Amino acid sequence: MRLVWSAAPGWTVVSAVMAIGQGLLPLLGLLLLKFIVNDVMKGITAPDKGASFRHILLLIIFAGVVGLVSAALKSLGTLTSQAMGQVVADYVSDIVHSKSIAVDLEYYENSRYYDVLHRAQQEAPTRPMSIVNDLTGLAQSVISLVGMASLLLTLNWIIGVIVIFVVLPGAVVRLRFSAQLYQWQRRRTMADRQSYYFHYLLTDGTKAKELRLFGLGELLRGWYRELRKVLRRERLTITLKRSLADLASGVGAVLAVFGTFLYIAWRTINGVLNVGQMMMYYGALQTALSSMQSLLGGLASLYEDNLFLTYFYEFMTLEPHLQSPPDPKPIPRPMREGVVFKEVTFQYPETARTALDKVSLEIKPGEVAALVGPNGSGKTTLVKLLCRLYDPHEGTITVDGIDIREFDPILLRKSMSVIFQDYSQYQLSARQNIWVGNIDLDQQGAAIEEAARDAGADEVIQGLRRGYDTMLGKWFAEGEELSIGEWQKVALARAFVRDAEILVFDEPTSALDPTSEWKAFEHIRALAKGRAVILISHRFSTVRMADRIHILEHGRIAESGSHDELMELDGRYARMYELQARAYRLDSELE
Ligand code: ADP
Repeated sequence: MRLVWSAAPGWTVVSAVMAIGQGLLPLLGLLLLKFIVNDVMKGITAPDKGASFRHILLLIIFAGVVGLVSAALKSLGTLTSQAMGQVVADYVSDIVHSKSIAVDLEYYENSRYYDVLHRAQQEAPTRPMSIVNDLTGLAQSVISLVGMASLLLTLNWIIGVIVIFVVLPGAVVRLRFSAQLYQWQRRRTMADRQSYYFHYLLTDGTKAKELRLFGLGELLRGWYRELRKVLRRERLTITLKRSLADLASGVGAVLAVFGTFLYIAWRTINGVLNVGQMMMYYGALQTALSSMQSLLGGLASLYEDNLFLTYFYEFMTLEPHLQSPPDPKPIPRPMREGVVFKEVTFQYPETARTALDKVSLEIKPGEVAALVGPNGSGKTTLVKLLCRLYDPHEGTITVDGIDIREFDPILLRKSMSVIFQDYSQYQLSARQNIWVGNIDLDQQGAAIEEAARDAGADEVIQGLRRGYDTMLGKWFAEGEELSIGEWQKVALARAFVRDAEILVFDEPTSALDPTSEWKAFEHIRALAKGRAVILISHRFSTVRMADRIHILEHGRIAESGSHDELMELDGRYARMYELQARAYRLDSELE
């Protein structure tokens, strides 16, 4: 309720007022009905039929007005509930978004947390509104029930008790099955997510190429269908059981209404009640029963919604482990001593292998350090630790002698420029694709185009239909797709535009042609003045130009030194270098 209130206070008040109105009107309607019927009965035998009719006319007009107000409230209720629903859903989505960006990267790399995320994103936007609807329905039922119960009490108190008992079994049924459904959904989140994944593979544009080439479409379609069938069947079994139990409890309610009707008719025949009263009591009985049913039904859905909303709260309780220190130190600017990794050991959560094992290395300002090593040797992990996406288990990483845990992680990341291998291709304009690298800059400023020129992206962008204002990618109107190498140039420009002290390029030039690569590296060299640059690459033509080269193997530093030193050492580096060089020579000989 607090959530709904903070999202839409105005609408909440409106809907409360309307619930009261809608709860009271049926009582007024029934009283009018009693008067009308009795006046009609009297009118049949009255000498002045004109006067009787005028009286009845007034009553009917009044009843008509009540009917109109009731209809108006109903339409207004639908409007309020829809408007409120949208406001609340957007509000909750906004909270989910803010939490999604605040939690650690680790949460996205762990299937258990992904389940929490998936459930919250699925249920959170609709459940709060459903709670509001339950609550307004509940208020309305309570008000109308109190009115009807007071009417019925004047008839016979036992009827009041019957009304309550007859509805209870239905409520119990709802509660039991809500809990079952909730448990089932918790258990099956992973399967549900997997079916979403197949759907994504089948419908996402970036997967379309490989899907067609490998002929995977039908296979994935089959997997999706199978998985959905199992999930559907399991869910249906629960719903079916619930419907049967619902039916059984409904039969009891119907029997009670008609039994009581019999009693009322009996009293009327015996002259204890007049016809107007009979109709009023019968109406009251029916309204009381349906209010009671919606009251208990409402309570049950409230319970259910609350149960499902626990997903949202479960998600909201995820806390980033990587806290900012209470009194963060300022990031040294300009950097004087550089970055030092000292005996850094790290293992990803819930894995057995050590990703980094006592890694020590130093990168001075103005220096380009290259990391080389086979896949999975820990190069990217090292960068992730430097950006404080994870904390090392042992050892320290310092900038100018200060442990990076003593900085505010946001400011630390702001002082770094990193492109990972799986850099993003934003479906935004070319200009925005570069500008997001430094959103403090003016989007129209010269710095954007300058960075594009340095990265070799300017030429590509100038060739597009609308230059820098062309949408990249094919998702939106008039978008233009780039080649992988061209995207990479744009990503490089994004890294260049950032005002950073530490620059990291994780295979930045893997898709570039040799000339572009050469130019890009020239610029990286120029950027390195006063800054620390880490370069990860498999191309020795690039690597050899670094000031210092570190060879990583199984998370350990195997060799370190300049190109010449390592060649002289005649170890792993020299072997790998020779291997590539030989292949090149072979190529040129063949030519
Ligand atoms: P490189 O960049 O050298 O190719 P990485 O640093 O990405 O290698 O990976 C080092 C090791 O850590 C690999 O064995 C890899 O399987 C493991 N690894 C990488 N990312 C994760 C992760 N998010 N969770 C668990 N293990 C991971």
